[in-house]
Amino acid sequence: MHHFEYRDGILHAEEVPLDEIARSVGTPVYVYSARTLERHYRVFDAAFANRPHLVCYAMKANSNQAVLKLLADLGAGMDIVSGGELARAQAAGVPGERIVFSGVGKTDAEMRAALAAGIRSFNVESVPELIRLSEVAAAQGCRAPVSVRVNPDVDAGTHEKISTGRRADKFGISWLQAREVYDLAATLPGIEVRGVAMHIGSQITDLAPFEKAFTLMAELIRMLREAGHDIRHADLGGGLGVPYHGDTDIPPEPKEYAAVVDRTLGHLDLEYVMEPGRMIAGNAGILLGRVIFVKEVEGKTFLIGDTGMNDLIRPTLYEAFHHILPVRRPPKEVQPVTVDVVGPVCETGDYMARDRALPPMQRGDFYAVMTAGAYGAVQSCTYNSRPLVPEVLVRDDAFAVIRPRLEAEDLIAMDRLAPWQE
Ligand SMILES: *Cc1c(COP(=O)(O)O)cnc(C)c1O
Repeated sequence: MHHFEYRDGILHAEEVPLDEIARSVGTPVYVYSARTLERHYRVFDAAFANRPHLVCYAMKANSNQAVLKLLADLGAGMDIVSGGELARAQAAGVPGERIVFSGVGKTDAEMRAALAAGIRSFNVESVPELIRLSEVAAAQGCRAPVSVRVNPDVDAGTHEKISTGRRADKFGISWLQAREVYDLAATLPGIEVRGVAMHIGSQITDLAPFEKAFTLMAELIRMLREAGHDIRHADLGGGLGVPYHGDTDIPPEPKEYAAVVDRTLGHLDLEYVMEPGRMIAGNAGILLGRVIFVKEVEGKTFLIGDTGMNDLIRPTLYEAFHHILPVRRPPKEVQPVTVDVVGPVCETGDYMARDRALPPMQRGDFYAVMTAGAYGAVQSCTYNSRPLVPEVLVRDDAFAVIRPRLEAEDLIAMDRLAPWQE
């Protein structure tokens, strides 16, 4: 469910017509719906009502301060993967006890900052990390709260580049090695074991991989408790998908997901942490663009828009599908044409859609690349010296620029000449 709909033939974000934002802020621009973000958070949180739990939004999906503040005000914690994200979460007012820290390559400086912030848990991904974290914590005279991220060797059935829970993926500690890693953790002076963590991948639209992973997690927790480890906290990761197509990729409802958690782990009296990212932000955002040229070559039409792969890399990086909608809805009788929607960047991989049937569009027309709220703006860059794409937040009939466009002068001002060039 989201709040991007046609009203009187014009695509709106909540009550704001998108052509108004396009004219006022310019294109390309990301537009987020506050009501959609709120709704997704609430539905997910409500699915776990009556179980001790904390929803730690995976902020790498969309880490704009306004988005973080909105979710933090609703009670969300954050799943962070870097010191930069820790700083952003803190700037948005998220207290340490609502922060969990994932990622395979935490540096000493990041460990120190997270310890000082008093975070809820380090999700540790390797033995060298565990040993180093113990040393860093002991040097600060404290113990680091730890969950070991276990890799259950489950195939999440998702795209190669967003699968994380198979043995050959770089994430987590092998299921077979988990027991000895907990035994080691118990001997380390700077470590306090709290729980077990898993995250098997992203854009998962089937409950079976979750069921498999959580069943293994339950087995592991039973075994660890028998061995004397005090396991109270289960971090279930993120991964619930969103409907990009809306036909073959309908994800399960949060309450069906919660039922799987109850069935597999419910008897263990655990406190849950969940780390949804895409599910919260994915279809709460769109990328709004404008057609620059319509180019016809033998038997083929290119819609050349101003949304480039530097603004949204998902189509080329993950072979992702995004619906594209004209902001002005064409009359019903208009026949679609098959086009490639490409951008202005000098790369063949610079496209939003290929061989897509769309209503005919003209130079100057606005269009929306749908379901772009997660892993969109956060992966944008300034390749080809394109101004960094701005972001807008809509709530009811109001909109606000929550990141201005960075222009060429701003980019130039970040560079320095070497002293011998002056
Ligand atoms: C990316 C990530 C998430 C969020 O994944 P989504 O598919 O966006 O829900 C959660 N946990 C960890 C450890 C991650 O790396």
